Amino acid sequence: MINAVIFGPPGAGKGTQSDRLIKKYGFIHISTGDLFRWHTKNDTPLGKKVKEIMNSGALVPDEITIAMLKEELQKNPHAKGFLFDGFPRTVAQAEALDKFMKENGTAIHHVIALDVSEAELRARIAKRRTIENRADDEDEKLNKRITEYFGKTIHVLPYYQKQNRLSTINGVGEIDRIANDIAAVLDKK
Ligand code: ADP
Repeated sequence: MINAVIFGPPGAGKGTQSDRLIKKYGFIHISTGDLFRWHTKNDTPLGKKVKEIMNSGALVPDEITIAMLKEELQKNPHAKGFLFDGFPRTVAQAEALDKFMKENGTAIHHVIALDVSEAELRARIAKRRTIENRADDEDEKLNKRITEYFGKTIHVLPYYQKQNRLSTINGVGEIDRIANDIAAVLDKK
């Protein structure tokens, strides 16, 4: 069983690469952004609680996010492996994830960070805005998401690097080349 995290700022290409990795490795994909969007779309009690926070571009509090994640993991006790996308976004989330994996006799084996400059992210999201209609892609909210990333989420990288679990991949260029670079990490024995 291999468990991996795909990591990067908004617009880094985590979703695109996740789709390929799921097909290639049979991962169960856990995207906390997709889970939160599902809850807000279906107006569940959790959805009601997080809707405004998400729309502002801020991070949902750790307590809520970690509880949702654990519930999702417990639904898949026989998973061949998990691919975490958009989680962990804070050091507290990374610690909670390690603890949970350990309790279940497993671990996070690889953290793949997609490296993309801020200028490139902004250009990509401006383009995505003309195709998809995500409320949090508007300028002010996007600025908040980028600030949250560089203010809070980026501190997760040294946490994994210290433990030799981090691989940084150049996230700019051909989608196939990026996918091959990721596969090279996951296939490493
Ligand atoms: P992005 O394009 O910013 O990577 P996501 O789809 O992963 O977007 O997440 C959308 C929003 O959902 C975030 O801006 C945040 O409000 C909330 N969210 C998703 N994952 C987390 C998390 N691990 N911790 C806190 N909030 C989260």
